[in-house]
Amino acid sequence: MTILIATNNKHKKIEIQNILLGLNLNNFQLVTPESLGILIDVEETSDTLEGNAKLKAQAFSNISRLPVIADDTGLEIDFLDGQPGVYSARFAGEDGNDTLNRAKVLKLLQNVPDSERSARFRTVICFIHNHQIHFIEGVCEGKIINEERGINGFGYDSIFIPKDYKKSFAEMSSEEKNQISHRSRAIQKFAEFLKNTN
Ligand code: IMP
Repeated sequence: MTILIATNNKHKKIEIQNILLGLNLNNFQLVTPESLGILIDVEETSDTLEGNAKLKAQAFSNISRLPVIADDTGLEIDFLDGQPGVYSARFAGEDGNDTLNRAKVLKLLQNVPDSERSARFRTVICFIHNHQIHFIEGVCEGKIINEERGINGFGYDSIFIPKDYKKSFAEMSSEEKNQISHRSRAIQKFAEFLKNTN
């Protein structure tokens, strides 16, 4: 089966490819939108991760007619009542970026004690195949630190330390992050699902 990874985010694409390749799924071939000449940008207008993952998967599925996986990820910070959540990409505003998003989180959590800095990444994968829509979730618990640490990864990686670890995601190698991340947990479940449906 050929599966299209429905994202234009190069970091996500590489992570998803590496995680799936590591699972030795012999009967699956992954393709990217660029390799098929598909250049679309899907607006994430839903107020849930499921809704946005579905919008992305459907848009790429309609164009490609291939089985498609899309992921939508949010960072949920307990002290901020679950914010930025589904709005993680635009937390610092429509013209913001990852650097400004991280700075906003650090500012909002300034002087908040360690015990109240719990947070989690949540990834929802939407898989569309044969007109059927499936949702699969992966969560990674952890906390927000006081300052940026590390230069690897992307997004909020440099301000997040997974539970029971000392390094931020951005201080880990991609292999280390991919062992425990929200995305790899979701993709491992997805791989199980694929194995059971074949
Ligand atoms: P989206 O899933 O592409 O909408 O991403 C939402 C936001 O979360 C963006 O700001 C991403 O940079 C960020 N993000 C998504 N996945 C990760 C991750 O694995 N680590 C850190 N930040 C992430």
